[in-house]
Amino acid sequence: MSRFDMTPLTRTFRTLLLLLLLAGLVGARADPRIESPGWYSAKIGRFTVTALFDGTIPMPVEQEFSAPAPARLKTLLARDSLGMTVPMSVNAFVIDTGQRIVMVDAGTGALRTFGEGLGRVLANLRAAGYSPEQIDEIYLTHMHADHVGGLTVDGRAVYPNAVVRADAREAGHYLSREKLAAAGPAKPDFETAIAALEPYVRSGRFKPFDGPADLVAGVKAMPARGHTPGHTMYTVESDGEKLVVWGDLVHIGAIELPLPTATMHEADVAEARASRLRTLRDAARERTWIAAAHLGFPGIGKVRAERGGYRWLPIALLRGH
Ligand SMILES: [Zn+2]
Repeated sequence: MSRFDMTPLTRTFRTLLLLLLLAGLVGARADPRIESPGWYSAKIGRFTVTALFDGTIPMPVEQEFSAPAPARLKTLLARDSLGMTVPMSVNAFVIDTGQRIVMVDAGTGALRTFGEGLGRVLANLRAAGYSPEQIDEIYLTHMHADHVGGLTVDGRAVYPNAVVRADAREAGHYLSREKLAAAGPAKPDFETAIAALEPYVRSGRFKPFDGPADLVAGVKAMPARGHTPGHTMYTVESDGEKLVVWGDLVHIGAIELPLPTATMHEADVAEARASRLRTLRDAARERTWIAAAHLGFPGIGKVRAERGGYRWLPIALLRGH
């Protein structure tokens, strides 16, 4: 027997190794994943706030904004080295008060309405050290697919112990069968919301609130209507620090921060603009932390008034990490 002869066991081992190597090579070619950070935690007073990345939606800005004119949009985007299709982050947030674990929005889940490369909230929640069973409450900023899709997959509640809450106006609109029947081309928005909320409604775990509301200790709901009929933001306060979870008050920071009167397709354009202007003014004046569903991940920072508009100051810049 020469030293090159192999025992059956060694042969099996080498075959396995070869197969693994091949699988690795094939996998590397078939799965060109882009590495990206998926979760980010920060202390707000005694609370821990964690941003969860769901993915990005390629936003065709010229189609989505009716004002300003495309030339102005182009100039605003060019200032941030962006083209006319912007990769818009989708972020959800976890607020751990030490007593309760609250999520705000749930990402797209298994929906592919906005393309591939989304649906990572659940994996990032686990990566951040939480299990879906641990989530006590989920507060919805509104019921569009990129905020509710992750609640339910294949008809089953992803968060089996969570109570889901949203403004009664939002529920009255998006969960209404009559409105669904009359919705025309907006039908999928209603269907998605109904399917996402269904297991929670069925088990008595969907509890709408009416307008401003105290939720768990330190967390309040504040109406910020316009984007949708019951669009809501959530204020989080602990030990003198305050954070406001925004939802869809701003979509593209490079546009709506320097030019807060910019106009997207929203349920009530004038109301949405008023909500945006009021919230930005207060956030700059009070220097509150903001957690925004669509600003670049982690979407946590502050705004500063500048030249008739606002400038975004990301948390990493302010806190140095
Ligand atoms: Zn959204």
